[in-house]
Amino acid sequence: MTATHYIDGGRVASQGTETIAVIDPSDGQRFGEIARGNAADVDAAVRAARKAMGENFDGPWGAMTALERGRLLAKLGAAVMQHHEELAQLEARDTGKALRVARNDATALARYFEYYAGACDKLHGDTLPYERGYTVLTVRMPHGVTGHIIPWNYPMQIAGRSVGASLAAGNACVVKPAEDASLSLLRLAEIATEVGFPAGALNVVTGYGREAGAALCAHRGIDHISFTGSTITGRSVGLAAAERHCPVTLELGGKSPQLVFADADLDAAVPVLLNAIIQNAGQTCSAGSRVLVEQSVYEEVVKRLSECFSAVRSGPPADDLDMGPLINEKQFRQVRDMVATAEANGVKVAARGTVSSNASANGYYQEAVLFRDVPADSELAQREVFGPVLAVMPFADEAEAIRLANGTDFGLVAGVWTRDGGRQLRVANKLHCGQVFINNYGAAGGVELPFGGVKSSGFGREKGFEALLGFTTLKTIAIKHG
Ligand code: NAD
Repeated sequence: MTATHYIDGGRVASQGTETIAVIDPSDGQRFGEIARGNAADVDAAVRAARKAMGENFDGPWGAMTALERGRLLAKLGAAVMQHHEELAQLEARDTGKALRVARNDATALARYFEYYAGACDKLHGDTLPYERGYTVLTVRMPHGVTGHIIPWNYPMQIAGRSVGASLAAGNACVVKPAEDASLSLLRLAEIATEVGFPAGALNVVTGYGREAGAALCAHRGIDHISFTGSTITGRSVGLAAAERHCPVTLELGGKSPQLVFADADLDAAVPVLLNAIIQNAGQTCSAGSRVLVEQSVYEEVVKRLSECFSAVRSGPPADDLDMGPLINEKQFRQVRDMVATAEANGVKVAARGTVSSNASANGYYQEAVLFRDVPADSELAQREVFGPVLAVMPFADEAEAIRLANGTDFGLVAGVWTRDGGRQLRVANKLHCGQVFINNYGAAGGVELPFGGVKSSGFGREKGFEALLGFTTLKTIAIKHG
């Protein structure tokens, strides 16, 4: 593995000489290196993307019709499926996620390209009623060159949704993957060239956020920034974008609640409540990390969840158990510290999972932990853990359930479990968040479903057709013809 970026249709050495070690989270061992990109590397990638767009969108990529872009995206989706196992294996090794999850991510990556391939030539403007003697129309234009900052938890899914929509809308892209998970996206850029994307349409610059990421946000050649990551970094990205009036989409963290009412189908709910927090070892922005349960079924739900949590096993990605290791030592320590602090503060552990005996002692394995009776104002109920740690708490009635659900700084996703149709919609309408699932929960799912948050979970929407609108700018053309 050579440490290179992917710029202008090929692997390119970094302009600096430094590299970043690639660590296998399952044993803490170094197994490669990536380039530590700097502002000069970002500049080279932005120039390549601008050349692909052309000054007046007349470059090799900018001049393509929607139909041509759609056909290329369809080819890319098919090629991802051909390379499916290779990409999944690479991702599992790089991020530590269970192979099953990495395979699902590779499928989702292909799905995003398939979905947006079909959407390219259905994205259009409108004609507007106006004064007599005029015809007014709106045209959806690409921004130009878009910057994409990707976190480590679902590199393929998150790059797929953001780059897929942006390319479909006609932009050229510069991607900055997370320093802990860059390999699959470097390979994706190569595959894009192989299927015929013009040089510069999709570029990848690896490196640290404070260096390559900050340089991308500050670059005047970037016309839109799509950032997915933590709330704190999102704030600095938003500020950098505001400095130069650059539009930005922020997909940030969450503390998503699932509300379980007494009339819920518990047989259906409990496995979903479990999966929503252990999927990807809890490292999912939309993880259902708080479960609020109506008092009369509280003990029953805690009992059933405890049985499930006791059976959850973590182990090496290749063993494909319920969970793999966490991404890195920093994340491992953060999760362990939050669990220890909650216990030290007297929050009760109802159940714990186990780590398989063949897991390396140097790997970042965190067992699943179920906390019960979690105080609503405690750290565990308010802060994102980003690990397999679930906070369960009771509520007395619908009003209290809604108050607790809305009682954090976040607002990403919520789940509502009830058979009462009136309550389903009444509660969904009162929840402050971007997605509500009723009698189901889609942590990280749904290529077709617009996704994003309110409050500290960010703004703007990705996924679905809605994302295409965010990756365009609307131009109004008024024609006076008498
Ligand atoms: P992070 O914010 O540390 O890093 C995300 C990306 O930003 C990385 O590529 C990083 O290199 C880059 N970055 C860091 N500092 C930067 C800077 N100053 N300027 C520009 N880029 C910078 O987040 P993380 O730890 O990689 O990811 C975990 C977080 O992401 C969690 O909070 C999670 O909830 C959130 N997340 C949100 C979504 C969503 O769609 N809402 C999806 C996945 C993850």
